[in-house]
Amino acid sequence: MRLSRYFLPVLKENPSEAQIVSHRYMLRAGMIKQSAAGIYSWLPLGFKVLKKIEGIVHEEQMRGGHIPMLMSTMQPADLWRESGRYDDYGQEMLRIKDRHDRDMLFGPTNEEMITDIFRNHVSSYKDLPLTMYQVQWKFRDEIRPRFGVMRGREFYMKDGYNFDLSKEDALHAYNRHLVSYLRTYERMGLQAIPMRADGGPIGGDYTHEFLVLAETGESEVFYDSAVTDLTFGDREIDYDSVEQCQGVLEEFTSKYARTDETHDEALFNEIPEDRRRVARGIEVGQIFYFGTKYSEAMGAKVQTPDGEVPVHMGSHGIGVSRLLGAIIEASHDDKGIIWPEGVTPFHCGIVNLKQGDEAADGACEDLYKALVAAGLDPLYDDRNERAGGKFATMDLIGLPWRITVGPRGLKNGVVELTSRRTGESEELAPEAAVAKII
Ligand code: ATP
Ligand code: MG
Ligand code: MG
Ligand code: MG
Repeated sequence: MRLSRYFLPVLKENPSEAQIVSHRYMLRAGMIKQSAAGIYSWLPLGFKVLKKIEGIVHEEQMRGGHIPMLMSTMQPADLWRESGRYDDYGQEMLRIKDRHDRDMLFGPTNEEMITDIFRNHVSSYKDLPLTMYQVQWKFRDEIRPRFGVMRGREFYMKDGYNFDLSKEDALHAYNRHLVSYLRTYERMGLQAIPMRADGGPIGGDYTHEFLVLAETGESEVFYDSAVTDLTFGDREIDYDSVEQCQGVLEEFTSKYARTDETHDEALFNEIPEDRRRVARGIEVGQIFYFGTKYSEAMGAKVQTPDGEVPVHMGSHGIGVSRLLGAIIEASHDDKGIIWPEGVTPFHCGIVNLKQGDEAADGACEDLYKALVAAGLDPLYDDRNERAGGKFATMDLIGLPWRITVGPRGLKNGVVELTSRRTGESEELAPEAAVAKII
């Protein structure tokens, strides 16, 4: 992409409404535009990162054997009357009447709708296990939408649902989700710690939230510092193996790590004192096993050799749009965002120090083509602007690499390659710079 033809409405001043750094940088980098409280349009740069994050979520879900689909955002109230949640959900649910005076709602989550789909089409235990998921917009009329995309009213969420014959099978699905979530967050450059949590309106005894530690997080968390030493890394895992998935669950959840809702002071005090941590975290996902809560209420049953039984279910969410904020909270400096490689909107920026100079223009074009040919997605700042302004924009939008091209360097056959994360620069031939980025 050439910046002169792109839409990147960068703000020079700090927007006064933004209280935390991720919100500030998302607005300043022209990633989002608020249309109403907690409701945002995704401008091209923000949209690109959102899609990168969604892409990782899809890959890791499918790796776990989960099937993508898409449910409608609008739902009939009657489904929620069946589960009893139409009244229970309260004011967070956006309720709408259609022209025939029928009660509708904008889905805050989809347990009822997926259970309805299931009961309409599945009747035999032979069709189990089954896990389907979607990445879809949700609406929750939050009392206090704030911090930009962190607590929006309209937000993008991955929600998955498993249907199993027994509690044992459903717990395997739960563990499988835990594994795939660990992989998902690590690919985004994040450490998200599974913590024992509270069921809330979705219900259920088995539930973990995934938290990214950050001072600006809305949850208070208590943990044994040993949990932060755990990483999933690139180990191979067989998602069909009950033992392997259970092993990962045990490894990642045996140390104390809880949110304030389930915190137990006595247990916490059993941790050696130098390892006790009280901190704040951002909830970027949650997994649940809730048994037959919805299947019994809504008649989602399967025929088995021993008769008809309600299916065991769980649901599993990832805050896709919230993750942009969480990643920025975890990775930035005073100049701007520092994108982890896995989610960066462009792989590399090219800054032309002297637009209109034949040698500089030609070298930038060649670099651009070479990077594209290598399968990368560069952003070439070809605007007729001062170098200082170009650097500030590149630092703000946080691409991992910047190649700076100017007439002086070119006389010696070199360009400058700078790492956004370390700030280190080196001079090298253009081909060598490309080779280093690939
Ligand atoms: P919170 O405690 O932050 O209100 P939640 O527990 O109500 O979140 P879940 O029902 O567990 O949310 O939804 C799954 C994920 O969706 C959450 O882990 C979070 O990452 C994301 N999410 C929930 N509410 C919002 C919101 N208002 N804006 C952005 N993301 C959200
Ligand atoms: Mg909530
Ligand atoms: Mg929560
Ligand atoms: Mg939650």
